[in-house]
Amino acid sequence: MSDIKTNLAKIQATLPAHVQLIAVSKTHPIELLQEAYAAGARHFGENKVQELGEKQPLMPTDAVWHFIGHLQTNKVKYIAPYIGLVHSVDSIKLCQELNKEAKKHSRTINFLLQFHVAQEETKFGLSLDEAFEILDSPLFSQLENIRPVGVMGMASFTDDMTQVRREFRQLKQLFDELKQRYFSQNDWFKELSMGMSHDYQIAIEEGSTMVRVGSSIFGNRYYQ
Ligand SMILES: *Cc1c(COP(=O)(O)O)cnc(C)c1O
Repeated sequence: MSDIKTNLAKIQATLPAHVQLIAVSKTHPIELLQEAYAAGARHFGENKVQELGEKQPLMPTDAVWHFIGHLQTNKVKYIAPYIGLVHSVDSIKLCQELNKEAKKHSRTINFLLQFHVAQEETKFGLSLDEAFEILDSPLFSQLENIRPVGVMGMASFTDDMTQVRREFRQLKQLFDELKQRYFSQNDWFKELSMGMSHDYQIAIEEGSTMVRVGSSIFGNRYYQ
């Protein structure tokens, strides 16, 4: 068995049935994605529009693409025809653009609201008040070609797993709050995207439904 196949099988074996594994393939060559696909992976995560645009046509059409990086509004049009889920929505402007491009392709784009729970200043994401602002705005209610299906976040990059757990718990509370306030009647608002290679097990214990795992599947990333 190849490493990727072995890694996938090991990780998959630890996931409860309700948790979706997303193979984060950013920076890795298409051959490795194909290897993962052959081993059963169907959900792939990328964080650059251009890189995703190069890989998507080379993969089977039943691959589901997750956009997990910061998304600029002027690049939405490139991924709108096929993107399965945008994890990283943090402005009404981006919602409007996603809606506009989804409409052009007569489809609905599912997305997650990205929250900031980590201590690092640089990470993108909303506060609860900012999320309220988006969801309460009359503009938002008119966007019929996008659908919020949950929330996403990243814990701090730290070895302090107590802190990581605290941040995941906070994310789950944000999810619950939005669910109760806006989506209690909507079955589709159910996703909590949290957990990466080094912390996905904790994330699952704290309620994650989608884990975004890169290096534990594909090995280290090499940036040029
Ligand atoms: C790169 C990345 C991951 C995967 O990280 P690993 O530590 O390699 O598992 C998950 N989520 C986001 C948002 C990322 O950018």
